[in-house]
Amino acid sequence: KIAEGCDRPCAFCSIPSFRGGLRSRSIDSLEREALGLALRGARELVLVAQDTTAYGSDLPDRASLATLLDRLARVEGPRWRRVLYAFPSAVDEALIERIAGGAACRYLDMPIQHVSDSVLRSMRRGMSGRLVRETVGRLLERVPGIALRTSVLVGYPGESDRDFEELRRFVGEGAFRHLGVFRFSPQEGTPAADLPDAVPDEVVLGRQQELLDLQEETVRARNASWTGRTIEVLVDGEDGEGTWARTEGDAPEIDGAVLLPPGSGAPGDFLRVRVAGAAGATLFAEPAPSGA
Ligand code: SF4
Repeated sequence: KIAEGCDRPCAFCSIPSFRGGLRSRSIDSLEREALGLALRGARELVLVAQDTTAYGSDLPDRASLATLLDRLARVEGPRWRRVLYAFPSAVDEALIERIAGGAACRYLDMPIQHVSDSVLRSMRRGMSGRLVRETVGRLLERVPGIALRTSVLVGYPGESDRDFEELRRFVGEGAFRHLGVFRFSPQEGTPAADLPDAVPDEVVLGRQQELLDLQEETVRARNASWTGRTIEVLVDGEDGEGTWARTEGDAPEIDGAVLLPPGSGAPGDFLRVRVAGAAGATLFAEPAPSGA
């Protein structure tokens, strides 16, 4: 955890009220922790905070997420450094360069919440739908193969059919490999809790289901396009079903997994595997013949 607390004013969120404002850990202490994890065999570092992209803005040495990634990239052992909880308007060139250049893996969790201007304004997100789209477009263009995870909030007070349609169309473009769809629920003491124009429960449920169905189509298309390909995976462990691994585009315990035949590798091994098929978020693969 690279920082605690958040300074953003998102109208639906109560986290700043109980976690307080942003307090970043120093780069030195994070580097020491990474060294300790590396000594214990860690092959992947997952960077989390309420807002990872705000990292360092409260520190005297003008540290940033990009400079932190540079330092962590010098720690031998972990090959993947994964960034979760990025704030879209704070995803800057420096971060994109780090992802494109390998200091961070080709993955970004960036909750967008919505793309309708009026909903974003009411949410006090401080950005337009256009900025969200441009940021997503830039990431996809600059980092070929990047896996984007996002979460969206449906049924925010005042979310009209047209607002939802904008979001539905954007999700349907298939930019996100992983998607969380949450239903608005008022948090006591937040500005959004006092907003009028609540969206009826059955409408909210319908919108959530519609987006989940759309995303299923995206996942199905991705699975079909991966079958037959040779990819690199990191082994997590073994159970009665076989050896479990993940691609660079899957965060541990959040995203998809790759199932290999029993005994394919030990935890921490990077393997080249050939994808034979898929079901939902799970790919089925076999170790690739050497040279593949
Ligand atoms: S939603 Fe995230 S960025 Fe916004 S206030 Fe809450 S923790 Fe901060």
